[in-house]
Amino acid sequence: MKPKADPIRRDVGRPRFWETVPLDRMTPAEWEALCDGCGKCCLNKLEDEETGEVALTRIACRLLDDSTCRCAHYPIRKQFVPECVVLTPRTLPRSAYWMPRTCAYRLLHEGKPLFDWHPLLTGDPESVHRAGISLRDRTIPEFEIPEEDWEDHIIDEPT
Ligand code: SF4
Ligand code: SF4
Repeated sequence: MKPKADPIRRDVGRPRFWETVPLDRMTPAEWEALCDGCGKCCLNKLEDEETGEVALTRIACRLLDDSTCRCAHYPIRKQFVPECVVLTPRTLPRSAYWMPRTCAYRLLHEGKPLFDWHPLLTGDPESVHRAGISLRDRTIPEFEIPEEDWEDHIIDEPT
């Protein structure tokens, strides 16, 4: 079967750059190609103020399109969600602790390899969904659930 079109360009950069090029030396196109399209970073999290423990919920950011696991207005998202974190080599060290455990940025930051279902390795953007890593069709929009009830929607991260 022919793979579906990938909204992220993967045919960029140096051969297997994710294995050899440090994060802060990647080109913007290489950096963007690292995203596996899982959408898990767009789920709301709850952080325990005392322990710093981060719990994932199935409550998605208002801009997440749950059928594609993509941001519906990525280029202008800050106009709607000012708190959305822009991930860069500079901000990654501060954010890595709450990023999904399978996130390519977090994995490389921690010196770990990508999983074999990553679209950079499979050439197919569907592989992240087939592997059961994404939350496709499994989230609830944040405007449907009052924030005080988010605790009732904590989930285990699919890994
Ligand atoms: S968790 Fe990481 S790999 Fe997955 S969508 Fe977010 S930035 Fe991309
Ligand atoms: S604004 Fe877009 S990129 Fe940011 S958390 Fe929401 S859905 Fe994700």
